Amino acid sequence: MRFDTRLIHERQPADAATGAVNTPIYLSSTFRQRAPNRHSGFVYSRSGNPTRAVLEAALGSLESGNAGLAFSSGLGALTTLLEAFPSGSRIVAVDDLYGGTWRLFEHHRRQFGVRVEYVDTTDLAAVRAALATPADLVYLESPTNPLLKVTDLKAVARLAKAAHATVAVDNTFATPALQRPIELGADIVLHSMTKYLGGHSDIIGGALVLRSKEDAERFAWLQNAVGAVPSPFDCFLVLRGLHTLGVRVRAHGESARAVAEVLDGHRKVRATFYPGLASHPQHAIARRQMDGYGGMVSVDLAGGRRAALAFLRRLEVFTLAESLGGVESLVDHPASMTHASVRKAEREAHGVTDGLLRLSCGIEDPADLADDVRSALGSL
Ligand SMILES: *Cc1c(COP(=O)(O)O)cnc(C)c1O
Repeated sequence: MRFDTRLIHERQPADAATGAVNTPIYLSSTFRQRAPNRHSGFVYSRSGNPTRAVLEAALGSLESGNAGLAFSSGLGALTTLLEAFPSGSRIVAVDDLYGGTWRLFEHHRRQFGVRVEYVDTTDLAAVRAALATPADLVYLESPTNPLLKVTDLKAVARLAKAAHATVAVDNTFATPALQRPIELGADIVLHSMTKYLGGHSDIIGGALVLRSKEDAERFAWLQNAVGAVPSPFDCFLVLRGLHTLGVRVRAHGESARAVAEVLDGHRKVRATFYPGLASHPQHAIARRQMDGYGGMVSVDLAGGRRAALAFLRRLEVFTLAESLGGVESLVDHPASMTHASVRKAEREAHGVTDGLLRLSCGIEDPADLADDVRSALGSL
């Protein structure tokens, strides 16, 4: 079946006990056993919960993996992933990352002696050079947060495989509706379900999807051992979000294109970052490996920090807030908000300047979003 149909039906049967069409919220921390260790498959809700199990199966399958695992946040998923890379491990990571991911990598580097090297993974020669030294994990985001850099996932996965490194891809920005990294050679997919999967800015959640059965077992063990699991209620909300993911992501894409077209080439704009623009340096790769370009657009304003702050004040439909991927349009100033934990020199060297704004284009009427951005630019 096609993807939009699968979003609604895949691994989401009517409830066996009652026939409920929607997966019920099983608010029970524990489950009766008929005799010690004789049970229905559920023992204790940290180890497994029926509502979570349906979400995990659906996600695992939609991402073309062997299994999905749900967590209490995207960073909870990352923490659990990093448990598999002990002291002495070497991680090669893309050099434009969600700020919280960078912060956790740096923490593991300082506290646990994990080596981390940040590489521009859009440059395959740089990836090849980094992998000349043995690596355990190649960690990618594509498109990246906040600069929307696109990595050729198939090419990097091939290089990593030859170097015997595991490949993990944070697929938060694209979602499985637009890109399925496991089909391109990745071993692990990570999500912040807080964003497009939930889709309504009302929960915090994360996920891992594993390609192999061995990883599925290893990380299910870690999920239970670490314990960063989501509530059944949050799992229900993400399942509900999945049902509309296809239509939402298409609408987000229309909004983002309308906004990007206003920004691109405007005299107050230094650079517009959107993989759907023909001028984007990796546009051809995005066209090949994605089924659309997503709802995120970043813009570097010519007037720097002052222009960015003035622009923010003029916006009426976009709300100034961290996060992204909800139905409502949000705007973020990475330098002082989501990426404030990244050192200024490091930030600027990678293009996260004080004039950069990240726009999460919602599913309001695209013309209203375009008007909002146009008039805010006009006021500069
Ligand atoms: C938000 C985000 C995360 C972290 O997820 P939380 O749910 O906030 O813990 C990780 N990666 C990306 C790309 C994100 O946008």
